Amino acid sequence: MKLLKYNIWTIGCQMNEADSRHLGSQLEAIGFAMTEDPEEADLMVLNTCVVRQQAEDRAIGRLQFVSALKKRKPELKVGLMGCMVGMREAPRLQKQFPFVDVFMPPSDPGPLLDFLRKTPDDDEDARMEDIRSKTVQNAIQDEEYILPALSRHNTIQANVPIVLGCSHACTFCVIPYRRGPERSRLPQDILQEIKKLTAQGVREIMLLGQIVDRYGTDFDEPYGLAELLLDVAAIPEVLRIRYLTGHPNYMTDRIIEVTRDEPKVMPHFELPVQAGNNKVLEDMKRGYTREDYRVLIERVRRICPDNTINTDIIVGFPGETDEEFMDTYELIKELELDKVHLAKYSERPKTIAARKMPDDVSHHEKERRRLLIDELVDDILTRKNQRWLHQEVEVLVESRHKGKWRGRTPHNRLVFFAADENMRGALVDVKISFTSPYSMQGELVRVKVPAIPQPVDVSSVPMFHRPLKETLSAV
Ligand code: SAH
Repeated sequence: MKLLKYNIWTIGCQMNEADSRHLGSQLEAIGFAMTEDPEEADLMVLNTCVVRQQAEDRAIGRLQFVSALKKRKPELKVGLMGCMVGMREAPRLQKQFPFVDVFMPPSDPGPLLDFLRKTPDDDEDARMEDIRSKTVQNAIQDEEYILPALSRHNTIQANVPIVLGCSHACTFCVIPYRRGPERSRLPQDILQEIKKLTAQGVREIMLLGQIVDRYGTDFDEPYGLAELLLDVAAIPEVLRIRYLTGHPNYMTDRIIEVTRDEPKVMPHFELPVQAGNNKVLEDMKRGYTREDYRVLIERVRRICPDNTINTDIIVGFPGETDEEFMDTYELIKELELDKVHLAKYSERPKTIAARKMPDDVSHHEKERRRLLIDELVDDILTRKNQRWLHQEVEVLVESRHKGKWRGRTPHNRLVFFAADENMRGALVDVKISFTSPYSMQGELVRVKVPAIPQPVDVSSVPMFHRPLKETLSAV
């Protein structure tokens, strides 16, 4: 095969970023090279998200762009991947977007790889029917290429899915319909993947699952997230480990204790509450009350006092009154959580809420509620971040940003500092001289683990991994 070029456009969660990274490395394994320029691509893949309408609209906009490109370049091959395709939307999408050559469910590059391996005289229709839903497990096992070539020795933090799918069926959420039932990946596959990643420069591992604290509940052996965290920590090249997203009902004492006691596991929790009013929580079918959540936060803080806790909130869920919303507001104010990923309710096809609960909070009102929480969190963080002023914090440096180095503290705070020499991947101490709600600045004090040598010109490196902060706000 002649050297062909691929381009992957990714939107949505960290799971999608991991899927795009796997797909990129597998395409390279069969001879493709990455390009950032759609004009020179032979293959374009769109890895999509539909968690909210806005994300779906962006994918549709991108499809229109690709459609126009394909009119000019008929030989271009187009793959559509991710939650837009889900487990069974392909036939519908095929009618709507006939220029798409191949559809891939989330975490499953198989159909595209099969499509590319087929000879041109293969029966096209049979090929399209062959869309299966095998998991990413098989794909990773025979994969030599763990990171796309340009990302090797440049990717400091890598997302590693450990739980695929979700079986929880919260009434607002489309993910279980698109990512299929919950299944845990085997520990040996995960550890092997992480070892390969660290061999290519990765220093921080983000373990992913829709409900990451349910990891292993489908195994016969008693092996869960806590055990996996310890096994990952035993890999010498791993400097830091994080995990997301927890569900309040499954965060065990043991996981919190391992987070406290294992120095490589960062003391940072992602525990979405979604709402602080019991009727709304019941309508969402979250499976806990406001009181339960408060007890959980107290428990996390008691067992692991030095921590940060982020949460997710949906404002304007069907039927949410102003009073009910204020319960959410008051709960955040009382608990002083560290960051809120805020979303306005967006009706999603086939969910229980879409079928049974009219989307009756006006757009204007959703925006008002969003802003109120936003301002509240700004106030909380302005105050809380001052705790680090004039303190030394440890920072793992991820990238260069506007002439400064940018990294994260164990508590997942962004820190910027200046240094002339290469700092990518270094573990350093920084003395904080300025704090704001969402980032801090400081001066380099000492380098504890040296940077990763740079084999390529980093200014031209495409990013499969976007830092956590930008990921949810991008959709
Ligand atoms: N599995 C996690 C959340 C993953 S989805 C959990 O159980 O909490 C990421 C976030 O998107 C959710 O936390 C939720 O806040 C938001 N979200 C999901 N569906 C949504 C919808 N229909 N409208 C608005 N936000 C939504």
